Amino acid sequence: MSGTIFTKIINREIPSDIVYEDDVSLAFKDINPQAPVHLLIIPKKEIATINDIEEGDSELVGHLYWVAGKLARDMGFADDGYRVVMNCGENAGQTVFHIHLHLLAGKPLGWPPYTDRMKKA
Ligand code: 5GP
Repeated sequence: MSGTIFTKIINREIPSDIVYEDDVSLAFKDINPQAPVHLLIIPKKEIATINDIEEGDSELVGHLYWVAGKLARDMGFADDGYRVVMNCGENAGQTVFHIHLHLLAGKPLGWPPYTDRMKKA
């Protein structure tokens, strides 16, 4: 895999507003926030989509959720509630092919979370 914009963020080749880092993951503010808090939590390992997660990645992917909960507690919105979502592929609107959790918080979030991008025939 050749790497995406997120590889450049991991390697500090482009700037980002990093809020958490450890040996295997990184969390930073989304450049186009869809809520008062909009963070992206990524593994440092390059995995393109959910379809590419291997059994051996289970602990790593679970770790991303642990980071989400930690950030929610540390940033003070754990009790108010928040949303964690990972898009997969074109129909879900995935634009960066390096898996990432979106962590959205800071306001009541509507459900369902999507607007239908396909016009009905
Ligand atoms: P996706 O649509 O793939 O689920 O989400 C990709 C997210 O990455 C989008 O919410 C988009 O705003 C964010 N994003 C794309 N490029 C950059 C960037 O260069 N920096 C940051 N911080 N976020 C980015």
